[in-house]
Amino acid sequence: MSTHSTIAIVGAGEAGTAAALALRERGWEESVVLIGNESSLPYERPPLSKAVLVDETRPGPKTIVTSERLSELKIDYRHGCEVVSIDRTASMVILSNGAKIGYHRLLLATGARPRDLNVPIAEGSRVATLRSYEDATRLRELIGQGCEMAVIGGGFIGLEVAASSILRGASVIVFEAGSRILSRAVPVGIAELIRAKHERSGVRIETTAVVERIELCEGRSCVVLAGGQRHLADLVIVGVGATPNVELAQAAGLAVDNGIALDEMLATSDPRVFAAGDCCSFPHRLYGKRIRLEAWRNAQRQGVIAAANMVGEDRPYDDLPWFWSDQYDETLQMVGLCCGGEIPVVRSLGPRGQLLFSLVDGGRLVAACGFGSLGAVAKEIRVAETIIRRELKVEAEALANPALNLKQLL
Ligand code: FAD
Ligand code: NAP
Repeated sequence: MSTHSTIAIVGAGEAGTAAALALRERGWEESVVLIGNESSLPYERPPLSKAVLVDETRPGPKTIVTSERLSELKIDYRHGCEVVSIDRTASMVILSNGAKIGYHRLLLATGARPRDLNVPIAEGSRVATLRSYEDATRLRELIGQGCEMAVIGGGFIGLEVAASSILRGASVIVFEAGSRILSRAVPVGIAELIRAKHERSGVRIETTAVVERIELCEGRSCVVLAGGQRHLADLVIVGVGATPNVELAQAAGLAVDNGIALDEMLATSDPRVFAAGDCCSFPHRLYGKRIRLEAWRNAQRQGVIAAANMVGEDRPYDDLPWFWSDQYDETLQMVGLCCGGEIPVVRSLGPRGQLLFSLVDGGRLVAACGFGSLGAVAKEIRVAETIIRRELKVEAEALANPALNLKQLL
């Protein structure tokens, strides 16, 4: 195979698969090789902490693309294959089975992995993390009526697993090391609503709870906190963040800065190598700094834009950060980014939820976050997204007025 005609993609997750499909949509007719170290077809991760844990019909992975579609598009999907190194001088990637694949352009879409809980964990204790469909099916078998669970980390994994486990009849306690839950991504006012929802549903949440070790006590796991408090559990779930998979890039001499470091075109420090998704950091025009996002839409859209740029388009990536999280029957949505110092403005949607807008510079909106019923929250967040993108200045009183249709501010 000519080294000058293949676009190779490492990682068949959200970003890598979106890129492979986009290459064909953009008219790339030469070879596309999509290499993934998981054995199944590319699949969506968001259902893993939600439907896959709760649904009694035991759903299989929600695939992103069918094998028929991959063949139709002549995308050479190598599943169960690990890329172990990149030879940039020879323009090729080397697989664990020794195979070599030459490339004209290379996309790294290696994602992230669960961050280690750096404490002693006794052998035989039941401690799990959640990233893959395999992890989720293992967890599904363990969670059930009467199961006493301890969740370490009050972030997205921790809270979504807590909600799903309560729905399955388990009892749940969450230990969060920080002073509040969701401190990394969600403004305090909305995090408090989410905490209240969990507590009403029966979840116990302990903040400033620093786990010191996990012991094995008569066949059960015992979470020991820094203050000496001990908590017995049948199952411990660890969700203390994610680490970007940068080792391959680093070993190949590519720049890394909180993820594989990209420019606004999503190119790495080597102009023939691009990256997308959870594994990379990039400069954002609107926020004037380098950011790394761990969210579904970002991974998907970066895959598409990286594909466009690999075939010679010149499209800077400047989508707004956006994510959602479903917990119980409610949805959290957030658009934009808070960098500190914003003025919060609350907009009540009555029984349908609440929004919190973050304003800077005499009225410029930089972020909006809502929690409540999907329809109501999604509608308002869509308008907020347009306001942020257009860099409009808005009156705090107008945002707070529930009688005012936000579209009037556009
Ligand atoms: P991944 O999806 O992680 O894909 C990377 C792939 O590359 C993996 O299959 C990995 O095994 C493979 N790989 C890595 N190294 C190699 C190698 N050397 N060779 C071959 N293959 C390799 N986001 C939201 O916005 N909303 C949600 O509700 C939401 N829910 C989530 C629930 C769960 C349980 C998880 C884990 C994530 C969730 N996310 C959610 C985040 C979202 O799924 C991720 O941001 C997205 O999957 C990132 O896509 P990616 O392609 O960058 O990485
Ligand atoms: P996360 O959202 O970063 O949350 C981790 C939480 O654990 C943070 O609140 C963190 O606090 C806390 N923590 C860190 N160390 C701790 C410790 N030793 N003891 C107790 N708490 C500790 O990460 P995650 O929930 O593990 O999620 C993993 C990945 O899956 C992320 O990429 C996430 O975006 C993705 N995911 C996304 C969604 C979604 O968007 N809906 C859903 C599920 C998963 P500090 O911030 O203070 O460190």
